[in-house]
Amino acid sequence: MYRFSRAIYRELSSQIVEDRHGLDPRANHERVLRACEAAIERLATDRHYFAKPARTLFGDVRAYFPMASQPHVLRVIERYLGFADELLRRQPQNGYDIYGNPLQCRASTRKGTPCQRMPLPHNGYCPSHQHLADTEEQLAA
Ligand SMILES: [Zn+2]
Repeated sequence: MYRFSRAIYRELSSQIVEDRHGLDPRANHERVLRACEAAIERLATDRHYFAKPARTLFGDVRAYFPMASQPHVLRVIERYLGFADELLRRQPQNGYDIYGNPLQCRASTRKGTPCQRMPLPHNGYCPSHQHLADTEEQLAA
């Protein structure tokens, strides 16, 4: 997955503004790379709760770019996070995320404990909790 964060970083790194008088002249490069990695990691492990990944990452890094570069920065971020999301959507559903953590339905049982059943890839709910996804879509619309 980190090839996506590295790709974002590579495309943008020449435009990162550094504080020439700072202690570490590469500090902002480091911050941008870390922010890209964090966004990809969250997309990979917590996609259904990560509502606007591109907007979130852009918000985290825009301060490190000149105003004139920011539209380009947003486009690059949207493009690569789109690729990453597409790939995650097509992951085979073997019950684990790409880091080997077991997948779980997003719903809670009536007792209030997390539902342990295997979720469907497109919305993160197990077959018996699909109605919650429909409700969510109606709220979003
Ligand atoms: Zn469930």
